Amino acid sequence: MLLEVRDLHVEFRTRDGVARAVNGVSYGVDEGETLAVLGESGSGKSVTAQAIMGILDVPPGRITGGEVVFQGRDLLKLKEDERRKVRGAEMAMIFQDALSSLNPVLSVGDQLGEMFTVHRGMSRKDARAKAVELMDRVRIPAARERVKQYPHQFSGGMRQRVMIAMALALEPALIIADEPTTALDVTVQAQVMELLAELRREYRMGLILITHDLGVVADVADRIAVMYAGRVVESAPVHDIYKAPAHPYTRGLLDSVPRLDLKGRELYAIKGLPPNLTHIPPGCAFHPRCPLARDVCRTDEPPLHEVADTRGSACHFWRECLNG
Ligand code: SF4
Ligand code: MG
Repeated sequence: MLLEVRDLHVEFRTRDGVARAVNGVSYGVDEGETLAVLGESGSGKSVTAQAIMGILDVPPGRITGGEVVFQGRDLLKLKEDERRKVRGAEMAMIFQDALSSLNPVLSVGDQLGEMFTVHRGMSRKDARAKAVELMDRVRIPAARERVKQYPHQFSGGMRQRVMIAMALALEPALIIADEPTTALDVTVQAQVMELLAELRREYRMGLILITHDLGVVADVADRIAVMYAGRVVESAPVHDIYKAPAHPYTRGLLDSVPRLDLKGRELYAIKGLPPNLTHIPPGCAFHPRCPLARDVCRTDEPPLHEVADTRGSACHFWRECLNG
């Protein structure tokens, strides 16, 4: 395994008490593999990613347990300067909002070039050439001209390509993309997603793709981890999930994806809202919204049952759901 998160716990101090944002998350990604992490907002997907990247260890957020084993080392045990080295060169993150992640007063070429002058000790001239090369790689047209432009002169889709180029610059072993296409329109979304998938193959990187949209992962992910209230509730190869989900929450997400073959049918949306993380329901956290819930669900927290070798479900009634 390139990366293995084991039993991770993260808390936040809020005015209403302690918010348990991540409650024992375990998942892994191999070299060259894409793991999609799926869930509604507030499910803990981004917080887990930030803990992996080491950009969370500041109040009010606190990692209270677990391990993040990357290339054989537990990152949570490293000193901040060692951590920073890993973060710069070995793993990179792509965020939803490129405009606020890029520096508005530096040209795109200078920002890309900085990756090479700072981390690789290159001259400015060589770094500029590298920047143009990278912009070509992510298929920004007229790279040689556009390298001099500023972020606001790029469209949303092109700006997201610049973010991808920044992430790729040092050829990291792992990229984490947090809702990388959510702010883009549908056609551009597909193009950016395709580009990411292609570069991931070419560079043999591990990719963690965080999204709330099951519709975008079918073609790019190898595995899916579905998160709810700070836990992984189902984990499986992507095709198994599409064939038959083993958790009612996954089923709800699947049934909410518009499908061409079922045009005109009313979309099933999961009723209710995700729980307040300062007051997570006892038993199965999903029980107030679950169509299969019964008494035991209100009292006993379901463990992650082994559904198959490479598949788990945290539902007492996973068999029923699978056959559903
Ligand atoms: Fe629903 Fe119970 Fe399964 Fe939770 S454990 S998902 S409430 S059936
Ligand atoms: Mg998020």
